Formats: sequence, structure tokens, C-alpha cells
Amino acid sequence: MLYRADMVLPMSTPPVPCGAVRVEGSHVLAVGPAAELTPQPGEEIVELGASTLLPGLINAHCHLDYTRFRGALESRHGFTEWIKNINGLRRSFTSQDYIEAIAEGFEMLAENGTTTVANIESFPELLPQLPVPPLRTWWFLELIDVRARLDEGETLMGALSFFEKHPEWLGGFGLSPHAPYTASVDLYRLARTCGEKYGMLSTTHIAESVEEHEMFSHARGPLFEFLGGMGRDNSDCGHGSALSHLVEHGVIGGNCLIAHLNYLQDYDYDLVAQTGASVVHCPKCHTYFGHAPFPLKTLREHGVNICLGTDSLASNTSLDMRAEMREVVQFHPVTDREAVEMSTLNSARALGQAGKLGQISPGSVADLVAFPDDVEVPVAPNPYHRVVYSYGKPNLLLVNGQAPG
Ligand SMILES: [Zn+2]
Repeated sequence: MLYRADMVLPMSTPPVPCGAVRVEGSHVLAVGPAAELTPQPGEEIVELGASTLLPGLINAHCHLDYTRFRGALESRHGFTEWIKNINGLRRSFTSQDYIEAIAEGFEMLAENGTTTVANIESFPELLPQLPVPPLRTWWFLELIDVRARLDEGETLMGALSFFEKHPEWLGGFGLSPHAPYTASVDLYRLARTCGEKYGMLSTTHIAESVEEHEMFSHARGPLFEFLGGMGRDNSDCGHGSALSHLVEHGVIGGNCLIAHLNYLQDYDYDLVAQTGASVVHCPKCHTYFGHAPFPLKTLREHGVNICLGTDSLASNTSLDMRAEMREVVQFHPVTDREAVEMSTLNSARALGQAGKLGQISPGSVADLVAFPDDVEVPVAPNPYHRVVYSYGKPNLLLVNGQAPG
């Protein structure tokens, strides 16, 4: 099968005007100028015309469970109030609501060109009730033990056996200790150990809010008070940043995708670089909460791999990675090309899929998207700009070489 488009962005190599991509089964066989990739006898050709064809976008941080929470929560009373409110909202939804929310979330992702999602699953007991996911998905089982001790062994074994029995689910699974204020060091250690023993990924939220920063760095503030009131032993607070608290215990490794990292002490930059962890910035969620500027430039100067994610619709208005790219380009010294890299190459690297996902090259997986040239700037000279500023639905979406069912 040969896909031809006016512009092909392989990401790992320079743009190819009038390009073509040959796909066989689930993989890419070749990419190059259409003039050189001539059709083989009987080969089917898909002409995409005035479109940009690139690797499917990767959303490195999402909570599909909360797809129906759009517009339900306010941010103006601060992060701690938001946490309290989302906990209340979570209890008012049924399992069926969540199952439908996950399906709607997948649909929104696909409509906006995402083929892979790192999804945090708060209700792993729903997994056996879900249909085969249409997109490549890493399911990160959320671990929280601030209220009650979790039988993490049982959760883990249940998930392991579930995924073993479902090889048709593309992607993988990992663990997600929620955040240092809701998950103990023991849960983080479990996630780190599973990374070392089984190559499992992990993800977590760290240094998201000023309240979390106050809690760990200064043992004060509304989050500190709220969690202390719930019975959390806050003796780990007041000794350093939220990140340093975890790094000092040796529980953050290169298998980890750290969401947010908005509030850092000077010493944190070297720490995060030393762990080898990737950082997921969620630009629109960042704006929603009105956080202090994300230290993107300093993290990059320290060699940290930075990806983009949407977070959930409880703190965002869409699950569109192009909107995240526009936001990051607007607020940071990031080029259109770098924004697309953060949504393809960098996220693939974070997921341990470098060379397979996030790029179009011989042997890479055929997860592809094409966006029609609908950008306001007529045929922008910069092809990455056309992707970032496109608004329409893709005219091609392939996951593992096939249109998602
Ligand atoms: Zn999140």
C-alpha cells in the first residue's frame, strides 16, 4: 500500500515534498519522494493530495476516565479545592459512565490525529469490561494509598494476567503512583522495581501546583493542611522539594514519565536529569490552573526529554495535541518543528519506543496521520507550521497499518 501526500514529515529525517510512504501490514517499508517510490504492480495507492502526512501524534499524559468532566470544575479557588471537587465528582459517576467516557475520549483523540495515548487508569477493575481499544494505549494503573493501604501486589498481578490474556491490545501497561502527596514512597518503589525487573513504564504527577511546592518545601499551605487532616503523616514535608523527596529515596528512574514539574528548586534540575526520566508538559492544563511559567528552557538545557500531553478534560477543553502544540509555541521559545517533535519523537522515546513510534522510517510501526492543508496561512513555507495550525479532522489515521475500528 502506497500513501502519497504533498508533504511527508518523517520526523527522524527531513521533510519530503511530494512524498510517499509504503506500508506493508503493520509496518512502514519505505519513505521518500513519490517520484522514487514508484508503485509496484498491483499495489494500491492512496492519494492524500494537499495534506501533510506524519507519524500519528502521541499524547503522553491523559486520563480518559474524566472525559465527561469537561467544564465541571473551576480552577479559580486553587489546586487543593480542585482536588477536593474532582474527588466528589468521581463518586457521582457510575462504572458505565466511565466506560462510555473512555470510548468518547478515544474518539476525540482519533479525531485530532492521536494514535498513541499514555492513559492513567483510576478504575483498573473496568478493564475487563472495555472493548479492544481503538488506539495504541499504555494503561497506567493509578496507585494511591493516602487513605487506606492498597494491596498493590493483588492489583499488579491482576493487571499482569489481564494484559497477558489480551495481546490484541496495542501498547502496554505500567504503574502510576499518583503524586508524592497521595502515594507513599513504597508505591513509588514498586513502580521503580517493576521497571527494573519487567521493563515496565511508570508515570506520576510531581510539583504540579504551588500548594504541593509549599507542602514539601515548607510544610505549610492548604494541601499540607488538607492531607494532614485526612491523616497523612506529613513528616516527609519541610525537608526539600517534592521531586528531591522522591529522588533521595531512589524511586524515580529512566522508566518514568513525570507529568508537570512546574515548581522546582534550583537543585531539582540536576536531579531530574540524573534520573533519566522524561517530563510531560501539559500546556493547556497549565494555563487552566494559571501556574507559574513552566521551566521548559532550563529543563531542556539540562538535557531532559520533554513531551506533551493533554491531561484530562477535568482541566482542559479538548484532547487535541495540536492545541497543546500551539500553546507551547505561544508561551515558550519552541519552534513549530520542536513542538511536533515533543508530540512524536520525544514521546516515543519516553515510552521506550524510539525508532518504532513517532517517526516514519523503514521498520517503524505504521501509525500515521494526515492533516489536510486547512491552515489560515496559505501553504505555509514551514511544513511543521501547517500541522500545528491545522484544525480539521485528519483525512487519514492508521494504527498498526489499519484505520482504527
Ligand atoms: Zn494528570
